[in-house]
Amino acid sequence: MKEFHPEGPQQLEVKHFFEGLRKYAATIPEKRYPHQNRFIALLHLLCDSVSKLTRKRMEVESQSAVCGNGCDACCYFAEITSSRTEFDEIRHYLHSNMAADACSKLDRQWFVQENEHSSAVQPCPFLLQDQGCCSIYPVRPLGCRLLLSSRKCSKEDESSGAFDSCQEWSRLGWKEMPLRPDTLMKALESQRCGKDFFEPGKLYDEEKVDLKAFTHQELRGMLKQVQSTQTAEAPMCLQK
Ligand code: SF4
Ligand code: SF4
Repeated sequence: MKEFHPEGPQQLEVKHFFEGLRKYAATIPEKRYPHQNRFIALLHLLCDSVSKLTRKRMEVESQSAVCGNGCDACCYFAEITSSRTEFDEIRHYLHSNMAADACSKLDRQWFVQENEHSSAVQPCPFLLQDQGCCSIYPVRPLGCRLLLSSRKCSKEDESSGAFDSCQEWSRLGWKEMPLRPDTLMKALESQRCGKDFFEPGKLYDEEKVDLKAFTHQELRGMLKQVQSTQTAEAPMCLQK
């Protein structure tokens, strides 16, 4: 991939930017990245690469990441947002790829939570709580893909400082990518808004979707279109 280092305020044409990336996006394996929008698949692949690089850095600095399968405290306590383009992808995944039993499980979970009136910390609506698994794992948003911690968080650990280390480490890997994920995100959001040009040097500041802000009724509405004939694989466990 050609090096891409935006310097200063510089406008790029959205259409040409995506043309240049088309051949890279076409090579991304669909099994691991089943996204309808292949440029979001590319964005998520870049984020996963940042995460891998960050893990290596953490090991070198003797602060290995402790995130692993079934570790889900961050899904309860972290701020969980996604861009609009990523949220569209989640919606598509729910409709087209997710196994029907996972959808039913989510629906039951939402029903219980809605009727519990509990003051407990609100988990991400897409977390399968009994398994500690992400039901939308392949299309989980950028923030979830980059989250890493050098000390184990637990559901009892409600201090927001629990995630400081991961944010610090994520920033280290970010700048070393030949194509910065934030630049691609900016281009995707500009495309969604129908803009012809975008400024790659700026961090994306577009409207975000707060996944925890959705009502259970709204979420159920999203699931209604799930076909009973779905044969997709069971959701993969959290594995960062
Ligand atoms: S940030 Fe890592 S260690 Fe903390 S809960 Fe999430 S997966 Fe586990
Ligand atoms: S989208 Fe998945 S990984 Fe992200 S917070 Fe929700 S359950 Fe956890």
